[in-house]
Amino acid sequence: MDNIAIYPGTFDPPTNGHIDIVRRSLRMFEKVIVAISVNPAKTPMFSFDERKQFFMDEFEEERLSFVSFDKELLVSFSKKVGAQVIIRGLRAVSDFDYELQMTLMNRNLDETVETIFLMPSQQYSFLSSSIVKEVASLGGDVSSMVPSSVFSSLKEHFQI
Ligand code: ADP
Repeated sequence: MDNIAIYPGTFDPPTNGHIDIVRRSLRMFEKVIVAISVNPAKTPMFSFDERKQFFMDEFEEERLSFVSFDKELLVSFSKKVGAQVIIRGLRAVSDFDYELQMTLMNRNLDETVETIFLMPSQQYSFLSSSIVKEVASLGGDVSSMVPSSVFSSLKEHFQI
């Protein structure tokens, strides 16, 4: 059985926290699939292709692949792409309640798909895509919080 994990999220855009989690996942799994949520209701700032490219600029790694997903049960989707493990990042206790609830719900739906949690380096544990966008929109320096390609795109987007 291949050792495949799926890392789902919106990644709009990926921060250094997301990159950190992918890096850790690649040490643990033979293959990692980043599943990018393209829910149009969330009106993302960046397209699927842009978000995928941001990751690809950081990793030269054949074991990493990308899929888009929308309005699908994560456990069914994971099985469809051959992943037995769902990876989620845990930043702080504030993430825990929701993540525990989701994990138990997913387990209820499918006992065979396991969820594991990884913690990022401490310096990334305060980062979220939305706070990075907010700070960038106000002209704050987010260069140490996101990959350089994301930083360039944010500068362009907000004309800063
Ligand atoms: P979602 O819409 O699922 O919350 P996100 O793109 O915000 O999508 O996050 C995707 C995953 O990455 C989630 O498991 C989230 O907890 C995790 N994550 C988000 N930011 C960080 C960070 N700074 N460090 C580690 N994990 C993170």
